[in-house]
Amino acid sequence: MNKPMFDRVALIGIGLIGSSLARVMRSKGIAKEIAISTRSEKTLERARELNLGDVYDLDPAVAVTGADLVVLGVPVGAFETVAKTISGSLKTGAIVTDVGSVKASVVRQVKPNLPENVHFIGAHPVAGTEYSGPDAGFSTLFENRWCILTPEADSDPEALAKLRAFWEACGSQTEVMTPEHHDLVLAITSHIPHLIAYNIVGTADDLESVTSTEIIKFSAGGFRDFTRIAASDPTMWRDVFLHNQDAVLETLGRFSEDLSALQRAIRWGDGDALFKLFTRTREIRRSIIEIGQETAEPNFGRDEIETPAETVKMADEK
Ligand code: NAP
Repeated sequence: MNKPMFDRVALIGIGLIGSSLARVMRSKGIAKEIAISTRSEKTLERARELNLGDVYDLDPAVAVTGADLVVLGVPVGAFETVAKTISGSLKTGAIVTDVGSVKASVVRQVKPNLPENVHFIGAHPVAGTEYSGPDAGFSTLFENRWCILTPEADSDPEALAKLRAFWEACGSQTEVMTPEHHDLVLAITSHIPHLIAYNIVGTADDLESVTSTEIIKFSAGGFRDFTRIAASDPTMWRDVFLHNQDAVLETLGRFSEDLSALQRAIRWGDGDALFKLFTRTREIRRSIIEIGQETAEPNFGRDEIETPAETVKMADEK
């Protein structure tokens, strides 16, 4: 095993992302010592049972003491409080980073609250599942997924290079962009898709003309793929929308216009418009498969659980 990249890494927050980092750091020997802190006694105890770290403390200020790398893995709405709590205990020269799904707001919450003798550079691993908590993590979560690093003009190049090497050692490919651009890109690739999923599942639940038994029974027509996304953590996603307000609202405006155009095409029987769009969108999926960000297996590579007769029936309804 190579020499560890860091003597001590502190993970503040040990949910899906924090615990996946702990696992991959352990399996690849990235840190000599992993210090873990989380808000509740219960999660800390679970992290200990899972043997995710070397030292554990409910106080994040204790966990970051002596750490060369500090990774903040809490919901986006909690960054300011955490930054204020750890600020007096950070080692000179430490790299402080985060894994938040929104970047400009995190910079605003964290940077002014840290001392000048540490480096803060945001990051967002574009990898995840709909599960949360320390049991949900796994060591290959970041494998072949992108991690977006969001340094600013005054960020230290050496710290950036080290952070980049860290994510690459965790299995990710890395890309650099500004926090603001990150928020625009993620609004369309992640935040709006989640909003659509939450909305469609909510609408289905509110429909009076279709029973909930029917919705569940016939969900393979497409609905169930939205339910996976709509099962994502409510706290995390509430915070994402509250903290990426501008980019989400801007993109949502454009989305609503396009949806109205589709509505019009259906009303006027404009099959050409529908066919053209659906052909273009199919190409996008092909490109995602080509770059290895999705499987080409039918049905997302799921093992089919319906009986053959039912499968045929469902396929007809798609
Ligand atoms: P998670 O599994 O729900 O874990 C959240 C962690 O943060 C837990 O340790 C929790 O502590 C702690 N926490 C929750 N609320 C807190 C608060 N108000 N103050 C301090 N600590 C708090 O979350 P996750 O999925 O790992 O997400 C963590 C971060 O990664 C978020 O910023 C999210 O936007 C980002 N992210 C998530 C995904 C994804 O797919 N899930 C992907 C990329 C990035 P207790 O359990 O002790 O309460």
